[in-house]
Amino acid sequence: MIKLLIAVVVIALAYWIYRLKKQHIFIRHKSPEPVITTLEGTEVRACLDWDTPTECLRDDGLRYGEQFRAKQPPDLPHSERCQCEAVKLFYTSAEVFQGPSTPTPRKSGLGELPGEVALVLRLLLLELHDSSTKESFTKFWGRLGVERIPDEWLEPMRQLLSQTHDALHRTPESS
Ligand SMILES: [Zn+2]
Repeated sequence: MIKLLIAVVVIALAYWIYRLKKQHIFIRHKSPEPVITTLEGTEVRACLDWDTPTECLRDDGLRYGEQFRAKQPPDLPHSERCQCEAVKLFYTSAEVFQGPSTPTPRKSGLGELPGEVALVLRLLLLELHDSSTKESFTKFWGRLGVERIPDEWLEPMRQLLSQTHDALHRTPESS
């Protein structure tokens, strides 16, 4: 009888210790959740058109603010023809540190462009502005991997860029 009583007490004790441990583990697991803070930044957005000035194209997409590498805004407007906007953005710290962020949509001479398309157009415009050689537009278009441009944007973008090319490479003889 005493043996049985001892057995019951031992089992009860073991159970009590088990409960205590479980509670302890549970409490330990509840400790600090990852802190997600909201960051505020500003993004420069140029209007991408055939005659967008070079400095606007360069600063397009620039993000600045307290938590960014660029702390100070560029002087806006860049010039008389500048149509850049400074747009306030809010990010979570997780988004910022997760690597390159997704490009944001842009106004353009072709209407509102999705982020990825706008990025390609900006790079092609910059390429035209930067090239010192008088390459024909056909060569430029063939060289630049137009496969990066979605089909529905191909023709409108070709026209816009061709206009930029003409404006940049116009010579007294050809006009
Ligand atoms: Zn500008």
